[in-house]
Amino acid sequence: MMQEYHKEAIQHPIFKLIGQTSEELGVDCFVIGGFVRDYLLQRGTPKDIDIVAVGSGIELAKKVALKLDGKPQVSVFKNFGTAMIKHGDLELEFVGARKESYDRNSRKPIVEDGTLEDDQNRRDFTINAMAISLNEKNFGELIDPFDGRADLEKKTIRTPLEPGITYSDDPLRMMRAIRFATQLNFEIELKSLQAITEHQERIKIISRERVVDELHKILLSKKPSIGFALMHKTGLLPIILPELTALQGIEEIEGQRHKDNFWHTLEVVDNISETTDNLWLRWAALLHDIGKAPTKRFHKRIGWTFHGHEFVGSKMVYKLFKRLRMPLNDKMKFVQKMVLMSSRPIILSEDHVTDSAVRRLVFDAGEFVDDLMTLCEADITTKNPKKQRRYKNNFKIVRQKIVEVEERDHIRNFQPPVSGEEIMRVFNLKPSKEIGIIKEAIKEAILEGEIPNEYEAAYVYMLQKGKELDLKPHTNEE
Ligand code: ATP
Ligand code: MG
Repeated sequence: MMQEYHKEAIQHPIFKLIGQTSEELGVDCFVIGGFVRDYLLQRGTPKDIDIVAVGSGIELAKKVALKLDGKPQVSVFKNFGTAMIKHGDLELEFVGARKESYDRNSRKPIVEDGTLEDDQNRRDFTINAMAISLNEKNFGELIDPFDGRADLEKKTIRTPLEPGITYSDDPLRMMRAIRFATQLNFEIELKSLQAITEHQERIKIISRERVVDELHKILLSKKPSIGFALMHKTGLLPIILPELTALQGIEEIEGQRHKDNFWHTLEVVDNISETTDNLWLRWAALLHDIGKAPTKRFHKRIGWTFHGHEFVGSKMVYKLFKRLRMPLNDKMKFVQKMVLMSSRPIILSEDHVTDSAVRRLVFDAGEFVDDLMTLCEADITTKNPKKQRRYKNNFKIVRQKIVEVEERDHIRNFQPPVSGEEIMRVFNLKPSKEIGIIKEAIKEAILEGEIPNEYEAAYVYMLQKGKELDLKPHTNEE
């Protein structure tokens, strides 16, 4: 094979410095993996740089750090034989070349020192196994034993060794294959797809955090549906996200059909990915219909219904997050809220869009009302151009009204204009249910548009409500 040089990839002075330092230690070293792949794909030169040394990666890292401005700290992970340096915006990861062999009975590989070739053999995909030399004798030479270069051209995900062994040794690679196929819009070669299908069950031995990391990366891709369709095809989806698998299929009774909610969901996720990079909003799109599987019913007269699926779905979000060991924090609550409210704007827009309905929407969605509208717009997947235009137009009206109502009434992050303490003081009340009744009545009057969201008006309204409840304002206030 012709030797190929890529000196432009390693123009940054750090590479010369690493190369010279490794000469001093008498070891060869290379930049390898994602950096080389992304450079050759013209995705720019990544800030994450993996360096492999045929010798001690940790030694090399320490010696390099001493030569860098400010002598950055070296984080050593002894168990993995790796060391990391942060230098400006670069993150340099050093590892010693190693040979890995897997014992059927253990999850952990047996690791020994190895050659560059050994190290390339243990890598997941041909496109991730390419290295560029940093040594003086062949600075810039591409070392590509599995012709990853050709796979980049062909847009193929292929394993260096037998796919069955590769995936069974480290089942996370199944998710990585799908993730790279999604990010890069590549095809996974048939043998690999078959091997993933065959070894699907083994994904269960991988920690959920690592699986979720890959899910996040799939969701953050330009077209996430590629990944979920591949998970579906290979049988990983029912193991990892059975709630989505359950949405698959069209049922027909007495000529009445409902749409396939799985493929609809994937369309919604792709749609929303064109308008937002918000990972959690993308999660909301993925999960917005999960309540439809358990709530699906057939009625002779009205056909298929999914009553209460939003509420059921939002409860399922909690269980799903918990099962996948995702943090049960504000992000989870946000996803729940989006799922719970995911039908509200469409219901609202089917009718004449009233101010009070919009005020209620803003009140309930609070600071997330724009995200909710983004989700609902992405939810329009009808292929009927007339319907599509109508829905889009209705949502435009809703959006306009939100702005108008907001300017006037400031409902977002609503704070009661008259506080509970004030009600207690005015009517000389101890904590009691009357206070709640009056507060609720004021809030309702504002949302209905009977009074503006202002102190004066709310005060007058409070006095009136108090009177209805036979309460007397406390007179000796001075
Ligand atoms: P990105 O950083 O964009 O996710 P990457 O290819 O750099 O892509 P990393 O997870 O940073 O991926 O890993 C760096 C390199 O380490 C990979 O390119 C690959 O060569 C190797 N690698 C990572 N994980 C595995 C694995 N599970 N099995 C085999 N090799 C792996
Ligand atoms: Mg990387």
